[in-house]
Amino acid sequence: MKGLMQDWPLTVMSIIDHANRFHAEREIVTRTVEGPIHRCTYSDIHLRARKCAQALQKLGMKQGDVIATMAWNTHRHMEAWYGIMGMGAVCHTLNPRLFAEQLTYIINHAEDQFIFFDTTFVPVIEAVADTLPNVKGFIILTDKEHMPETKLKNVYCYEEIVEAEDGNFEWADVDENDACGLCYTSGTTGNPKGVLYSHRSNVLHALAANGADAMGMRSVDTVLPVVPMFHANAWAIAFSAPASGAKIVMPGANMDGESIYELLSTERVTVTAAVPTVWLMLLGHLEANEVKLPDLTKVIIGGSAAPRSMIEAFERDYDVTVMHAWGMTEMSPMGTLGSFKAGMETLPFEEQLDIKVKQGRAIYTVEMKITDDDGNDLPSDGVAFGHLMVRGPAVAGGYLKGEGGNILDEDGWFDTGDVATLDPLGFMQITDRAKDVIKSGGEWISSIELENTAVGHPDVVEAAVIGILHPKWDERPLLIVIPKEGSGLTKESVLEYMDGKIAKWWMPDDVVFVDEIPHTATGKIQKLTLREQFKDYTLPTATAAE
Ligand code: AMP
Repeated sequence: MKGLMQDWPLTVMSIIDHANRFHAEREIVTRTVEGPIHRCTYSDIHLRARKCAQALQKLGMKQGDVIATMAWNTHRHMEAWYGIMGMGAVCHTLNPRLFAEQLTYIINHAEDQFIFFDTTFVPVIEAVADTLPNVKGFIILTDKEHMPETKLKNVYCYEEIVEAEDGNFEWADVDENDACGLCYTSGTTGNPKGVLYSHRSNVLHALAANGADAMGMRSVDTVLPVVPMFHANAWAIAFSAPASGAKIVMPGANMDGESIYELLSTERVTVTAAVPTVWLMLLGHLEANEVKLPDLTKVIIGGSAAPRSMIEAFERDYDVTVMHAWGMTEMSPMGTLGSFKAGMETLPFEEQLDIKVKQGRAIYTVEMKITDDDGNDLPSDGVAFGHLMVRGPAVAGGYLKGEGGNILDEDGWFDTGDVATLDPLGFMQITDRAKDVIKSGGEWISSIELENTAVGHPDVVEAAVIGILHPKWDERPLLIVIPKEGSGLTKESVLEYMDGKIAKWWMPDDVVFVDEIPHTATGKIQKLTLREQFKDYTLPTATAAE
């Protein structure tokens, strides 16, 4: 027997319609690329998104076309998202930190028709424009006064084309399973692959990621997404915030500690989300200037593992609840968030930290398990670690144009490429990317755990661990460290600090000091480059073993 409820399609336009109807006056505050702070409301975003959709139609865009954006988190970027998706096109977010060849590949592979971009990215787009035969034109996200000089052809000024419209526009009549968003994975090997989100997956994900035990944003909250809209959907905040009526503060191009502090403080932000490197800069600013953030209640940290010392600093020194989160582009992106279960609130602080360093529990709509190399399920005992497998309605079922072939196993599970433990209470802890795990004497050593332990040393700025070939053990860990300037940090001091905090046989065989650790376009440590850099490195223990 079929249910008798209404067939109400889950489209992202219904989210901004809701915000317009019930949270019309709630603000979106932007630090603009031009400089000044800009204020508008959900009602303005709703109107201008419809004007943007009209403008795109006038430029010949149709339902199903792919339209790209390369932009910071701003009100204009948000309008463009809803405008593009609202006319039934697919919004393809481009990461400006990619190399020119990768951008060319991605834009051509996706068959992008138009590219919206901030003035910041004129040189990036100019450098690739000649290699993009499908692109019909460029829309610069600024007003007439700030239009830059450019050699690009078919260039439009966003404010001019949007303000030429009246906003009298009906959202496209789309099926909830139609595509509306596209984001390429940052894959360290091979070509990037396109993850194609549907209206339905985005709506379900926006609701699931904002559950009370997940991001938990409410209409009374003010949220500052430092996580960029050009990487993994800004963790769904541009959908979840309007669905809940939260005020949004968009940081634009400035993500240094001082700029973020200023916005958090003046806009009285209550919830914010970013990768650990951003929080390192903010904590540095707070400490150096002896300032606090009395309104901030929740910091969501993900994208890379949040070190224990960072979680501790937020919780103990600034009275802010840290929520460790994990996810990936293929998961829309949220998979887990670390909110406490009953009884955990009253545990001693150190035991609470033991829980908070884990990446958290699966949100509803995400199924999760770990398996061994042969695909057999492993126990959720918090000890066994294996390949982290996921499935759910906002998890990729395949990549754009079938790249990578069939990416699901016969039961529909997607291999995240991460290695993790699951404990009996459902908390997951990432131990590594499968290809970064160090295989020593047939056992696995977690490079992430070593890195996180090392950065707890007060004179360690950043740490990376890679496996180095070893004649006896196959691989042993090498710790690569950026020391605090002028600290005179020694290998002995780092190892002494780590001693007792990790299993003895996990202790790095050597420590090297460097000025810089390479990062990918999405801010993760580039282990591939490090492995290349240290491929001829001989560990002191290797010669001893021979
Ligand atoms: P991306 O698709 O670029 O967002 O990258 C996803 C990958 O980032 C995951 O598969 C993990 O390897 C890593 N990642 C994300 N969040 C965390 C976290 N909290 N701790 C450790 N690794 C993470």
